[in-house]
Amino acid sequence: MPDYVTILDTTLRDGEEAPGFGLTTPQKVEMAQQLALLGVDAIEAGFPAVSPDNFEAVQRIAREVRGPVITGLARAVAADIDQCWEAVRDAQRPRIHTFLPPADMHSDGLKREQAKARAAAMVAHARHYTPDVEFSPMDATRSDWSYVAEVFESVIDVGATTVNIPDTLGFAQPDELALMVTYLREHVSNINRATISVHCHNDLGVAVANSLAAIGAGARQVECCINGIGERAGNAALEELVMALTVRRDHHHVEHGIQLEQLVPTSSLLQQLTGVLVQPNKAVVGVNAFGNESGTGIPQDVLKGALRARLEQLGLLLTQDELNHAFTGFKRLSENKSELTDADLVQIANNGRRAADGVFDAIGHVYR
Ligand code: MN
Repeated sequence: MPDYVTILDTTLRDGEEAPGFGLTTPQKVEMAQQLALLGVDAIEAGFPAVSPDNFEAVQRIAREVRGPVITGLARAVAADIDQCWEAVRDAQRPRIHTFLPPADMHSDGLKREQAKARAAAMVAHARHYTPDVEFSPMDATRSDWSYVAEVFESVIDVGATTVNIPDTLGFAQPDELALMVTYLREHVSNINRATISVHCHNDLGVAVANSLAAIGAGARQVECCINGIGERAGNAALEELVMALTVRRDHHHVEHGIQLEQLVPTSSLLQQLTGVLVQPNKAVVGVNAFGNESGTGIPQDVLKGALRARLEQLGLLLTQDELNHAFTGFKRLSENKSELTDADLVQIANNGRRAADGVFDAIGHVYR
């Protein structure tokens, strides 16, 4: 039985913090509902101590969105953690995610010991509220790995259930991050009591590759964002990670809980809400997914979800039966045409509707 990888989506925290990606509270709630439909295991809904707006958004998501774990981010200080708990406490499954900043991770001597003690004290404080506590030492990949191991051991000792390795500046390379995961599994004596997570940034274009390498070494949570949004070059793109795990399941040997047919609709909703479009050649969710080379290894569910989302953008709402027929027509036409226009898609939808009525086949021929 393959292992299960937890998908933590941080679109509404790390993603939303990036300039140009700001969302209102109602937009965040709408996005969170879609993420629940997508089947993410955990939603990082915000950073409640940052502002009253942020607090309100996390609280509304915790109260209204059912299914995923709902977490908020909090510095390793009691006031932040208290506030984070107030925001997430009404969730079905609330989590507190607390972190030490880079300065603490790069300190030495007494300061280092103090930071480690504070991390443990604050994880214990968070555990007093909820049994689900995640801890992150920021900039872990550029920190002294032996210190990261010591801090992990202390926080797991007081009940951290997830220990996250943030590659805050997108500095790590895939084989290196895999080595770090292996190192921590070997040097943290109580590591089996926690899930190892990674949080990869894409400054060098390898956030997804890093996340996959970490999974290969035993990480069982990945933090990612829809369309790969996030600070600077963004975070690991959820849709790319999930498709790699799905299409190359023979290689990665892990399960996930994502509903593939919701990938494109989720990507579309985020583009709509932020007004920021992905590039046409974007893996998995770019519009060129409609080209005739599409589908190489891409499951039909994803393509069908993409077709439905595009038709809905064009104002064409099809029943499941109509969509199934339209999809057959879509595949046939894309075999013969390198680029499908909106007019083609309207035709495909109309043919799908008529085929569902049983009079025509999917490409518009009358049944004989
Ligand atoms: Mn980040």
